[in-house]
Amino acid sequence: MRHICVALTMTFFLGAVSAAQTPHQIAIRAGKLIDGKSEKPIENALIVIEGDKILSVTSGGTVPAGAEVIDLSKATVLPGFMDVHTHVLLQGDITSEEYDAQLLKESIPYRAILAARNAHIALSHGFTTIRDLETEGAMYADVDVKMAIANGEVPGPRMQVATRAMAPTGMYPLLGYSWELKVPTGVQYVDGTDGARKAVREQAMYGADWIKYYSDRRYHFEADGVLHSMVNFTDEEAKAIVDEAHRIGKKVAAHAIGSDGIAAALRAGVDTIEHGDGLTDALMDEMAQRGIYWVPTITVGMYVAPGRGGNWQRMADLQRENFPKAVKKGVKIALGTDAGGFDWKVLNEAKEFEYYVQYGMTPMQAIRTGTSTAAELLGWSDKAGTIEAGKWADLVALSGDPLKDIKEVENVKFVMKGGVVYKNELR
Ligand SMILES: [Zn+2]
Repeated sequence: MRHICVALTMTFFLGAVSAAQTPHQIAIRAGKLIDGKSEKPIENALIVIEGDKILSVTSGGTVPAGAEVIDLSKATVLPGFMDVHTHVLLQGDITSEEYDAQLLKESIPYRAILAARNAHIALSHGFTTIRDLETEGAMYADVDVKMAIANGEVPGPRMQVATRAMAPTGMYPLLGYSWELKVPTGVQYVDGTDGARKAVREQAMYGADWIKYYSDRRYHFEADGVLHSMVNFTDEEAKAIVDEAHRIGKKVAAHAIGSDGIAAALRAGVDTIEHGDGLTDALMDEMAQRGIYWVPTITVGMYVAPGRGGNWQRMADLQRENFPKAVKKGVKIALGTDAGGFDWKVLNEAKEFEYYVQYGMTPMQAIRTGTSTAAELLGWSDKAGTIEAGKWADLVALSGDPLKDIKEVENVKFVMKGGVVYKNELR
């Protein structure tokens, strides 16, 4: 009781002090501003920030009296980056041995400590928001990481989380151990339509923002040249997952690599297709027409292909062929890397922007996949993804011009999230 009384007094006192002061304002002078919506950068922009939000954005303009000035006049300022496919609780799994070792030899508390470290890495690379798409056996620890960041205990991006993901019994690792052993599973095993609805409710109860399920496995090319796969859930089960999630206001992400898995996920009514290597023209047309997002995760595909061998390089090549087609057809593409599928310490997630440009997007189009389009996917268009009045003050700065050389995005020098500066190498 004593502790509670002290806490209440403190809150009242701090509240009273801040109400009496004029709100703290920050004015950023940006040499070049890519705001996430305009076709061209704005030269010499002035961004005024109050608290955690952007108050105004003007070309030129005067700094308000009393505002703290941050001089980024020699830099290019962009909206904070967003990666909509990450795994903070994973440290790379090129081989199944690497994956199994993490689940078998590392405790969930240890993995959560590494996850906090990974979240910090993401933020320092300019990612102010991530959608973390399942914990790979670490239960609901993503909810804890998200909470620690939101409470300001550790630095990291804003997070939307999927908790455990779902696959039917026996269709996701860990597999191949003696039946006498009780080993952890990388997902929650879910069977039957009732089981599907119960699993969605359970994950939502423990804090899932998204529901993720594995639509397929066993990817293989057949004589038709199409990448096929084995579909995990019956249509009834997949539809039950999606219907229950939507009914209680959650969106659904489907891991779908082969054409059969993608088609099944589209039949079930998912909101986002993850990886999507085996997209066919017909599937792309359907996604474009229905406004379903594609999250390509090219970075992980290119990274694991040499180590995994088999079909993985051919799958990466297929993705490279499909990417410009999808852009042309108007499929909504949101930037996702599958960070965690590669070691967070080894690769910078921003590499994904470079692949999109290599595969046919303009730098401006690529930047939008990881800012405004990603925000739209997350349902945060009114809060993030562009630098505009009323939005969260989430922004990054680079010393070079990413429109001339997209590789500059891998060299973020300044990071602000919610009006707080987390990194500034431009002083
Ligand atoms: Zn993934």
